[in-house]
Amino acid sequence: EAPVSGSAPPVASSLKIKEPDWDDNVGYFIKKKLRVWCRHPSGHWELGTIQSTLGEEAFVSLSNGNVMKVSTVELLPANPDILEGVDDLIQLSYLNEPSVLYNICIRYSRDLIYSKAGPVLIAVNPFKVVQIYGNDYVSEYKQKFMDRPHVYAIADTAYDEMMRDEVNQSIIISGESGAGKTETAKISMQYFAALGGGSCGIENEILQTNCILEAFGNAKTLRNDNSSRFGKLIEIHFSSLGKICGAQIQTFLLEKSRVVQLANGERSYHIFYQLCAGASSVLKEMLNLRMANEYKYLNQSDCITIDGVDDARKFHILMKALDVVRICKEDQEHIFGMLSAILWLGNISFLVTDNENHVDVLADEAVTNAARLMGCSSQELMLALSTHKIQAGKDTIAKRLTLGQAIDTRDALAKFIYASLFDWLVEQVNKSLEVGKRRTGRSISILDIYGFESFQKNSFEQFCINYANERLQQHFNRHLFKLEQEDYELDGVDWTKVDFEDNQECLSLFEKKPLGLLSLLDEESNFPKATDLTFANKLKQHLNSNPCFKGDRGRAFTIRHYAGEVLYDTNGFLEKNRDPLHSDSIQLLSRCSCRLLQSFASKIGAPDSRKQSVGTKFKGQLFKLMNQLENTTPHFIRCIKPNTKQLPGIYEEDLVLQQLRCCGVLEVVRISRSGYPTRMTHQEFAGRYGFLLSEANVSQDPLSISVTVLQQFNILPEMYQVGYTKLYLRTGQIAVLEDRRKQV
Ligand code: ATP
Ligand code: MG
Repeated sequence: EAPVSGSAPPVASSLKIKEPDWDDNVGYFIKKKLRVWCRHPSGHWELGTIQSTLGEEAFVSLSNGNVMKVSTVELLPANPDILEGVDDLIQLSYLNEPSVLYNICIRYSRDLIYSKAGPVLIAVNPFKVVQIYGNDYVSEYKQKFMDRPHVYAIADTAYDEMMRDEVNQSIIISGESGAGKTETAKISMQYFAALGGGSCGIENEILQTNCILEAFGNAKTLRNDNSSRFGKLIEIHFSSLGKICGAQIQTFLLEKSRVVQLANGERSYHIFYQLCAGASSVLKEMLNLRMANEYKYLNQSDCITIDGVDDARKFHILMKALDVVRICKEDQEHIFGMLSAILWLGNISFLVTDNENHVDVLADEAVTNAARLMGCSSQELMLALSTHKIQAGKDTIAKRLTLGQAIDTRDALAKFIYASLFDWLVEQVNKSLEVGKRRTGRSISILDIYGFESFQKNSFEQFCINYANERLQQHFNRHLFKLEQEDYELDGVDWTKVDFEDNQECLSLFEKKPLGLLSLLDEESNFPKATDLTFANKLKQHLNSNPCFKGDRGRAFTIRHYAGEVLYDTNGFLEKNRDPLHSDSIQLLSRCSCRLLQSFASKIGAPDSRKQSVGTKFKGQLFKLMNQLENTTPHFIRCIKPNTKQLPGIYEEDLVLQQLRCCGVLEVVRISRSGYPTRMTHQEFAGRYGFLLSEANVSQDPLSISVTVLQQFNILPEMYQVGYTKLYLRTGQIAVLEDRRKQV
């Protein structure tokens, strides 16, 4: 009988990454009536058994009784029944795409939303409440009674490694919009919070920050009713006793444009609707607050409420959370006042006064209310929104604005106030969370950042988001592939090179100076006469030879990202990258009686704050982030969105497959299965397990101690390799020794 390679446990003597040789085994599958995957003309895979073959064609009987004739190239081996729904994809004998898709699907249908792909946790969004969280589950995982894949298990591993090795850890969560990143981040935070805090309820405070950041940074989009419109890293600090003792939050690239412009069916930031719905009548009067649908910034998209969400109730929860992070009542009133001012700014309208389209501000209640809330006079506000002062020789003259310019000035002001408010809030939250001294070696960072995006129309926002994802992907690659391979090779361990997609070329396309996307964008942004079209042409002129770049018609260009090609439209790139706020607006803010507005103005108006472009600032933030992450042991969670309807029980294969491909899950499985994921230096190993030896011989060197330990505890030779400096063990081997260690 022909052996079915791969159906036995992984063969240790060979480290070669090789799919079982299917072509030679078709005969065996026929004889044994083993299940195969057979691709329907529609592209969709079905299970069946081969009845017979004729040349290049096979007749496959499907589970519904039909017989299908397909070309043998449309067939792939399926896994035996016994492997149906395994916890870790590594356990599968066959790792082809339909097998992986099916395994995840079967688990999903049983409400097993978590699976492993080697070291990576895959989380499929259930879009319903699944009873697998809470204190009972936390303690099950804490005590290691439970070994099913779970966010708690990842959090627990990170925590144990931190306590054991005093090395900072990170949990990196990625996935598309609506895939469940933010929920997953919160679930892992709950795990750490359940371990308790040192004092003053800091763990509760950390959980409460979620509600604040979501109110101000999340919005309903077409993809997700609670979509995060910013990236977030929360670093949780632990005391030497392993209790939470503080935290710090960093945020990335808040989507400002949402404050002033909405796509149909989407909403602005939750906080606006919460405030309008939940403010007491006293507060309403104080802030001249109306119903949400009376504000242009909110009513432009025909979407004021979200099914199943009570904005008024959320507002009361938010106010309590603001109390918890010690934002005083006075500051809370300032915050709400500024939000109301932003809404009234949006209602300000302009009157065209001449045939050159110059405008005056219509002096109505919108102006009066906005000015009052900002703490300036209506006159000042009207002037700042309809004229720009320019220097003409020694004199300053006021140049009147056209309608378009006036609207842009007004919107830029609203966006600036909102973004500054957001940053200020994060700062306040951080002050409140910073308890005691930070200590390296005892922190866990959780990264919840927007995943790769590719839409019909892709603009500057997608450009930045996808750039960030290229960076994160490189980090992922480095850890799971490159480091692994380099480690083996350096240490003289037998390892056949594995090809993996390196995305350095695409990153260089973004970052190279002076001829990279970001540099060219900045150069063009500094050039007053430049337009989005001249920018597109410049890219084509300089980058067309780069294999990751393709010029397109007009203002468009394509980038070949690791996750696929994305077509970008340069429309609005220059303006979004410059993100201008006119000096007249800055001066206006600095003269406002509102203390917070003054401080926002002084930050941007400071003489040494040479204004960075949005792209360059983002790049700087990303570099800092990557630096931080490089100094941690990473744990990866890939969230998967099973359908685009945000409904439970629907598994759209194509959608899932495309996400699995994007995040390299299949490659991870192949490599992890064949590698030796656990590695320790001879010293570490001897130090940790040497004392288990019946006759410890102190004069022995670490290497001989290690080898003796391995032999004494019957670790099979195929389960480890001995390198020059380290020991390499297969998955699960260390558990045996750890068990012994605990018994002593
Ligand atoms: P975005 O990139 O748009 O911020 P996201 O990946 O952060 O998206 P989430 O907001 O975490 O997505 O999840 C979207 C919705 O999916 C949640 O509001 C919730 O209804 C549901 N969901 C996600 N994870 C879970 C879970 N583990 N259990 C129950 N529901 C979940
Ligand atoms: Mg989110």
